Amino acid sequence: MSWHLTPAQAHEYAHHRADEVTAMSVEAHITHCAPCRDLLPADEDWLARSWEELRDVVDRPRRGPVEALLASLGMREGTAKLLAATPALYRSWLLATVAVLAAALLAAHHLPRGSLMFVFVAPVVPLAGVALAYGRGVDPAHSLTSVTPLAGQRLLFLRTCAVLVPALTLCMSVSLLLPSAHTPGRAAFWLLPALTLVAGSLVLSRWIHLSAASAALGVLWLVALSVMAVSEHAAPIQLLLPQAQVWWAGALVALLGAILLRVRTA
Ligand SMILES: [Zn+2]
Repeated sequence: MSWHLTPAQAHEYAHHRADEVTAMSVEAHITHCAPCRDLLPADEDWLARSWEELRDVVDRPRRGPVEALLASLGMREGTAKLLAATPALYRSWLLATVAVLAAALLAAHHLPRGSLMFVFVAPVVPLAGVALAYGRGVDPAHSLTSVTPLAGQRLLFLRTCAVLVPALTLCMSVSLLLPSAHTPGRAAFWLLPALTLVAGSLVLSRWIHLSAASAALGVLWLVALSVMAVSEHAAPIQLLLPQAQVWWAGALVALLGAILLRVRTA
């Protein structure tokens, strides 16, 4: 800029008497010229107050109860904030899960072969949580998380754990109350299939959307059980017998290996 404000121009501008063109030139100039800026009178009190209010909003964002709890458990502030930014559907899923598991428990105690309902439902509960809680369209933080450096596999894995913890806790509590549960070991028959299905959907999410992958695997599980339920030579429980558990464990280890490899190379 070749010119600087004269004291007269500054005076005119400060008292709102400069014409429009001059005012615009002055404003463009004083944004990068400190000496000219100093020519203009400043309301120091107003400035100080404005900064105070601005800092108030920026420095102290509201903290929800979940975020505060996670932080108090020793989780890093940024991680706690990400996990706490759960979509509204997450809460609906949690409520639906409680309702469905309560129904399964009632069925197990009052209907012949009622425990079968829990067998159908338990491995799908965590899967449904992963599918409904995260991803484009249902996650208000999606646009944010998809452009952050933490986005991608690491974040996906982190948030899946946030779904798995309540899901597995709820399923385990209900399975311990089943009439057939005599030991915690026997009550955990659904755990490996549940984890394998979630791991499978995470691996599949590399090629298709996570929600679609979870839905596909959930449907596959229900179809497989239904086919075995109507078949004369098989029963759904065969998918959960100790021999089958070995296969579930093997699949889970392989899928977790694939996930870890991706998280490392992400
Ligand atoms: Zn100047």
